[in-house]
Amino acid sequence: MKVFSTREKNNFYTMSEAINLGIAPDGGLFLPKSFPKFKEDSFKNLYDLSLDEFAFNVLYPFFSDEIQPNDFATICAKTFDFPLHFKNLSEKLYLLELFHGPTAAFKDFGAKFLANFLEFSRGSDQSLKTIIVATSGDTGGAVASAFFEKKGFNIVILFPKGLVSERQKSQLTCWGGNILSLEVEATFDDCQKMAKTLMTEHASTFDFGSANSINIARLLPQSIYHAYTALHLYRITGEIHNFIVPTGNLGNALACYWAREMGFPISGIVFATNNNQTLSEYFESHSYNPRPSVATIANAMDVGDPSNFERLVSMNPKAFENKNLFSVNAASDQEIYDQISSVFKEFGEMICPHTATAFIARQKLKLEDQHVVLVGTAHPCKFDEIVMRATDFQVPICDAMREIENLPSYYEPIENDLEKTLSAIKRHQLNQSN
Ligand SMILES: *Cc1c(COP(=O)(O)O)cnc(C)c1O
Repeated sequence: MKVFSTREKNNFYTMSEAINLGIAPDGGLFLPKSFPKFKEDSFKNLYDLSLDEFAFNVLYPFFSDEIQPNDFATICAKTFDFPLHFKNLSEKLYLLELFHGPTAAFKDFGAKFLANFLEFSRGSDQSLKTIIVATSGDTGGAVASAFFEKKGFNIVILFPKGLVSERQKSQLTCWGGNILSLEVEATFDDCQKMAKTLMTEHASTFDFGSANSINIARLLPQSIYHAYTALHLYRITGEIHNFIVPTGNLGNALACYWAREMGFPISGIVFATNNNQTLSEYFESHSYNPRPSVATIANAMDVGDPSNFERLVSMNPKAFENKNLFSVNAASDQEIYDQISSVFKEFGEMICPHTATAFIARQKLKLEDQHVVLVGTAHPCKFDEIVMRATDFQVPICDAMREIENLPSYYEPIENDLEKTLSAIKRHQLNQSN
C-alpha cells in the first residue's frame, strides 16, 4: 500500500521507503493511503487466531505489494511473541495490560516490529546502519532491547544524566555489544538536539536509520493490541467499548483510532494526559498552542507539542468537534498519586502513574456506567518509588525487570559536546568491527 506525507499529499511512497525514512523529506509524517476494512461478518474468521496470526491478517494489507506473505508472517511472529492481558476489574471495566514485553512498557510492540522489519528489509545489504535515539527514559530501553545483536545495526542512546529512574537506567545500560549508551550531562531536550544535529550534519559519515516514535512502523503494530482487545471483548460481552489511552505524543491513542478506522468495535476514544495541557486546551478552545513540556510524575507523557497531532488532524480535521468520538482529560500529579492509592484500595491493583491518568479520566468524564477499556502502558515496578509512596506497599518486581537488573551495566558518561559524542560513536564502531 502506498503512503503519503501529511504535508505533501500528492507524493506517494512505498511502505518500506516510509519506514526507512522515518519522517517525510518535506518534514511531514507518513499516513497510509487507506485502511483495510474489517466488517462484522469477517470477525469470526479472526476470533480463533493467536495474537501474531491476528497481526498478520490485519497488517498484511498494508504490506502486500512489497513483501511475501511468509516473510511478513515471520516478522509478526518475531514481534508478537509476548502476551497482552485484559483484566476484568468490575462489571463494565477492563484493564488492558501492555507491559508483559522485554522492557515492561507498551513501546516494546512498536520497537520490536520496527527492528524486525528493518532487519528483514536490509536483506543481504552489508552496510552498517546507525540509529540514534534520544530518550527521556522508556523509548531508549525498548529500542535497545529490540535491536540488541541485530546484525548491521548500531544503536546510539543518548540519555540525560540524573533524569531517568534507576530502573530505567538499568534498561538503558544493560546491553553492550551493538548498543552504545551515552549518559549525557544535559537535559532530554539537549539530547534530542544533539541527535538531530548528528543526523543532519553528519549524514555523509554515517548511514543513519530512524527509530523515533513517529515512524509509521511503530504505530501500525500498536493498532493490533487495540483491535485484538476490542474484538475479543465484543465477542465475550457483546458490547462496543470506549478506550481510554494515556497520551503523550499521541502515538498509542492514534493507533487506537486506526484500529477503529479498520472497523474494530471501538466506541469513543479518550486521551488521558498529565499536566501537559496542550490537548485539553485545544479540545476546549480549538486553538493549538504547542509549548515546552512540564515535568510530571508520569514522565513518559511529558510532551507539550504531541507530534502525532499532525497525523490526527490530517486524517480528520473535524475529529475534535465530535465529542462522541474523542475527548480529553488532563490530570495533575496530586490526582495521579491519589488515584494510584485509591485503585489499590478498590481493586487491589498496583498501577503506574501513566496508567493512573486513564482511571482519572474515567472518573472525571463520568464514564462509570459505560463499557470501558483502560489502557495500562507500563508495569508499576518501573516506577516503584512513586507507586510505593502512594500505596505504602513494596511493588513486586516483574520478571523482565529482574532479568535486566542482574546484568552488568555498560555506558559512557559524556559531556554535552558534539565532537566528543562523534568520537565516542566512531570508537564504538571501530570496536564493533574488530
Ligand atoms: C511513551 C509512553 C506513554 C505515552 O505514549 P504516546 O504514544 O507518546 O502517547 C505513556 N505511558 C508510558 C509508560 C510510555 O512509555
